[in-house]
Amino acid sequence: YVFSVSDLEISRAQIPKPVDQLAEEIGLLPEELEAYGRSKAKVRLSVLERLQSQPNGKYILVAGITPTPLGEGKSTVTVGLVQALSAHLKLNSFACLRQPSQGPTFGVKGGAAGGGYAQVIPMEEFNLHLTGDIHAITAANNLVAAAIDARMLHEATQSDKALFNRLVPSVNGVRKFSPIQISRLQRLGIRKTDPASLTPEEINAFVRLDLDPSKITWQRVVDTNDRFLRKITVGQASSEKGQIREVWHYSGIKCLLTSAHCLDKPRISMSLFILAAGVKRLFKLGCHGLQSFLNSSHMFLALKLVGQDGFVVTEAGFGADIGMEKFFNIKCRASGLRPSVVVLVATVRALKMHGGGPNVSAGAPLPREYTDENLSLVAGGCCSNLKKQIQIAHLFGVPVVVAVNVFKTDTQAEIDLVCQIAKDCGASDALPCNHWAQGGRGSSELAQAVKEAASKPSDFQFLYNTEMPIVEKIRTIAQRVYGADDIELSPEAKSKTDYYHQQGYGSLPICMAKTHLSLSHMPDKKGAPTGFVLPIRDVRASIGAGFIYPLVGTMSTMPGLPTRPCFYDIDLDPVTEEITGLF
Ligand code: ADP
Repeated sequence: YVFSVSDLEISRAQIPKPVDQLAEEIGLLPEELEAYGRSKAKVRLSVLERLQSQPNGKYILVAGITPTPLGEGKSTVTVGLVQALSAHLKLNSFACLRQPSQGPTFGVKGGAAGGGYAQVIPMEEFNLHLTGDIHAITAANNLVAAAIDARMLHEATQSDKALFNRLVPSVNGVRKFSPIQISRLQRLGIRKTDPASLTPEEINAFVRLDLDPSKITWQRVVDTNDRFLRKITVGQASSEKGQIREVWHYSGIKCLLTSAHCLDKPRISMSLFILAAGVKRLFKLGCHGLQSFLNSSHMFLALKLVGQDGFVVTEAGFGADIGMEKFFNIKCRASGLRPSVVVLVATVRALKMHGGGPNVSAGAPLPREYTDENLSLVAGGCCSNLKKQIQIAHLFGVPVVVAVNVFKTDTQAEIDLVCQIAKDCGASDALPCNHWAQGGRGSSELAQAVKEAASKPSDFQFLYNTEMPIVEKIRTIAQRVYGADDIELSPEAKSKTDYYHQQGYGSLPICMAKTHLSLSHMPDKKGAPTGFVLPIRDVRASIGAGFIYPLVGTMSTMPGLPTRPCFYDIDLDPVTEEITGLF
């Protein structure tokens, strides 16, 4: 194995297959492809119609134990598993991965394309820009934010008549409603098409949204970890002075796209996005059209394209308690797709930390506990965090195959111990995998085990019924998934919960915003903590994306950059004009 080669060098050594050739091989028609350069393309949604009678392939979810600075390797397992399924087991298979955000790429992680001989290529294009959709989402999101603020300002400073004259301008001396304005009037119960015929009361209802600034949950977003944007004062002009707005790293639009699978869903959902004084009026802001280019349905497309005997492998971020729980309770509920198998990724090094090994910071030399054999630390991590994450997957009735992502410092005895304890804890199988060093060949046993587990009927079930009260849904996740004794809501969280219930959003699923570094709300508590009460600081709603999200403990909606961010090392080589320093 060549251990001294960087991920970027491995990527550069490969020549990607031309995307039109690849498209033909996987069964796409030329007109269904929109190429972005030679090795990337978008696929038209018309494929879904063409293949609607085709049965779906098997749906495999890669999840992980609780992350540590030592790394787990979910993306590299996802890619390695698909390499093994397709090249070694000769099964149609796709990996579906999300585009990396700039936050981790320029912050602590330095790339999110897998690694070694199991990674997405061309690596720098995938990490840095891809098709530009993240920037489009940011622009769309911030257009909505600007529209909301501008509208509130204009309503506060203008009479009904002045607003009406500007919203329905006169062209050649004639005022005319646009088709969208006519449907807006119809929704208000006003069946008139001549602007001159509206009464003052009807004009008032038509022009005023009366948005309540304290109830608006829509925030500006950036795709950069910028801690100074957590709370900012915008607008120093007299008309805006002193108004507080938050900037987040999360966009409701981005979230919506992960569950969208037809052109209508985002359009409809966008109209529900703003929760302002209980009214859903985005259409009136004039932003409805911006959604038509934003859609993500790669999972649905992939499941059709691989066919009944094929496999689609995707990844849930962070530990299974965070990514997998949301994937099942929110995404599978929205999409109707059902997973066949969970592949739970663990590393010997991370398990040692969960078993009581010392803390390490990213980039620092590893203490001996992580480089020398230490079976008792490994056993400690397996019997706490690994066991708990297997149990969480079993709560959903999905079989678990544990993948031990092998690092060169792991000993055979340590790997064997992880596999043995994983099987004792109920995993269908547990295997070491060496795709990082060997490519697909290193994961062929894992692929075989996944194929076998997927051939058995799965008994998938959701963890909670969405009709349960919001607080009960939060408590269910806290107790059954995180292992908390109970939850404690702040007065603000309690009043927001009551408000959302009154507004008719009580039956949405829950998207917990909790640290990913521990099963609890305390990032330094490794293993499987018990005896804690989960503090719910606030509860917010993302109505268009379709969930309620409680903020747990001190969880921030805008991560910060570390002292030495990855962008210190990322550069452009002036001679070769290639990007350097990604990993
Ligand atoms: P995750 O998806 O869990 O965040 P990735 O698959 O993106 O993790 O891997 C994170 C980093 O760890 C990458 O730089 C990758 O090259 C490295 N890595 C993953 N597996 C191994 C391994 N077995 N040996 C050495 N480095 C690895």
